[in-house]
Amino acid sequence: MTIRPIRYLGDPVLRLPARRVRTVDDGVRRLIDDMIESMEAAQGVGLAAPQIGVGLRVVVLGLPGKKPFALVNPEVVERAGTRRAEGEGCLSVPGYRGAPTRSERVVVEALDAHGEAIRLEEQDSLLAQALEHEVDHVNGLLYVDRLGPDERLTKLDGRDWSEARAAEQEQEQDAAPRAGAAPARADARESGGRDAGADEGADEGADEGDSGGGG
Ligand code: ZN
Repeated sequence: MTIRPIRYLGDPVLRLPARRVRTVDDGVRRLIDDMIESMEAAQGVGLAAPQIGVGLRVVVLGLPGKKPFALVNPEVVERAGTRRAEGEGCLSVPGYRGAPTRSERVVVEALDAHGEAIRLEEQDSLLAQALEHEVDHVNGLLYVDRLGPDERLTKLDGRDWSEARAAEQEQEQDAAPRAGAAPARADARESGGRDAGADEGADEGADEGDSGGGG
């Protein structure tokens, strides 16, 4: 296994829709092994192949306390509701976090590392958020594309995502709320109609395999 360098925002490979994998063979499994090692070295909870410069529809996920796993040719086949995903970050946008609009519920279909079909149903979980994040990557989209018009990225001081999430929750309990931050649930509902439209547009593009990178 090899730790491969992460590509950062501004690298064109992050904006290209990735190609479908035709056969889940040993070459794909070696890629998966490298991706898991690279994700863990970077302390990420997910990584998509374009983030190490490989234009294939392969993602890996490694949630705290869970065994890392891969999804090949993942597709979000159902999504419902919207929410603000506080404290989201991306290994390709290091040092920042934001609160993009995500679905409350997602259903993802994919192949596993052995080429077997799998289906994941997740609701209001970190995995639901990560699934949308990683499937976005193979469609050439980044979480910064999912920010509302009034949302800004927040600069971190070298902390990783999980630390940032915990720190943010503490801050929200005792610090002055920043614009649009509270109450988060009400904001998510109010902005739901507008953002759902944008999501549907992106999905249609993704189904055709030419989302165009979302800008
Ligand atoms: Zn990312």
